Amino acid sequence: MKIAVLPGDGIGTEIVAEAVKVLNTLGLDLQMEQALVGGAAYEVHGHPLPESTLKLAQESDAILFGAVGDWKYDKLDRPLRPEQAILGLRKHLGLFANFRPAICYEELVGASSLKPELIAGLDILIIRELTGDIYFGQPRGRRIATDGHFPGTEEAFDTMRYSRPEIERIAHVAFQAARKRSKKVTSVDKANVLETFQFWKDVVTEVAKEYPDVALEHMYVDNAAMQLVKKPKAFDVLFTGNMFGDILSDEASMLTGSIGMLPSASLNAKGQGLYEPSHGSAPDIAGQGIANPLATILSAAMMLRFSLNQAEAADRIEAAVKDVLAAGYRTADIWSEGTKRVSTREMGDAVVAAITKTTIKG
Ligand code: NAD
Repeated sequence: MKIAVLPGDGIGTEIVAEAVKVLNTLGLDLQMEQALVGGAAYEVHGHPLPESTLKLAQESDAILFGAVGDWKYDKLDRPLRPEQAILGLRKHLGLFANFRPAICYEELVGASSLKPELIAGLDILIIRELTGDIYFGQPRGRRIATDGHFPGTEEAFDTMRYSRPEIERIAHVAFQAARKRSKKVTSVDKANVLETFQFWKDVVTEVAKEYPDVALEHMYVDNAAMQLVKKPKAFDVLFTGNMFGDILSDEASMLTGSIGMLPSASLNAKGQGLYEPSHGSAPDIAGQGIANPLATILSAAMMLRFSLNQAEAADRIEAAVKDVLAAGYRTADIWSEGTKRVSTREMGDAVVAAITKTTIKG
């Protein structure tokens, strides 16, 4: 089982080191190879996704990814910016299906900004389409406007587009995932305003006919944003396009207490996957040893389950994370009065100790 380990920038290196440490305690035959990506790769190779890194990713069964980006690269031409690395990996590997489970652990109910009764027991799955929509649609760019309200002035534009096969394949992923859960899919769109999302809604409704055992509801994205904080437990599988999914999954992260708790998996048609925390490189706290590594450690568990067929090992990691939270270990982002504040490394050590059932130090 070959894993490409791409820590990236900012807290990426700190949190991935902890996930690798956890993977190494499982006694599995894992071949992990590390490579530069993002700003770190740009510094050395002049490109955020060098050929060698892409080749390693393509040849691996799975990719464990940290995060990329730093404000200092904001002035670079867009193709050279660190964030292009993750977009490039998604595109080159065809990683179209993004799974973001938002689970509120009992011990973290108090860390959420919502009332405990709204989020206790929360377990929703956000499925986001990842390779289409306005993020990749062409044409895009800047130009001098020839029409509109201000002809002759500068304007910028992007193109929102989805093809039928793109919508069909992600819809199948959502319905199949729902079959393993409570058989309910909420498809989030903006069909009242956008042609692209009226088409989305029509195609999803057609695909739903193949899954008569799964209940389908449609919801406009503005309402979904509201319902996520009003009555989040009413969702089970929340399924949407690339941009709406980007925004709603960050919103959902706060239901769970911290974005530092939210893992994600991005899969292609072959089951090959990229596993990363839902958050970014957090330059504001990079190098301080205070980042929460649990989203990355939980992403490693998803990797074992989805791409490496090691469900039992994934269960062990997830159980260990519950154990350390129950034992009161908290990084700064989820700390509250009466719990033990620990560093990134100490949190990783605690998970390792919980897996090996040795005493958790602290
Ligand atoms: P961010 O997710 O990096 O940070 C948002 C806030 O959450 C910050 O206050 C940060 O300190 C906090 N945070 C994030 N992860 C945390 C963790 N594990 N533990 C504790 N606190 C955590 O988003 P941002 O600040 O908007 O973006 C920073 C950089 O990351 C930008 O360059 C952006 O483009 C990039 N980014 C990369 C990815 C990716 O690599 N997939 C995703 C999102 C943003």
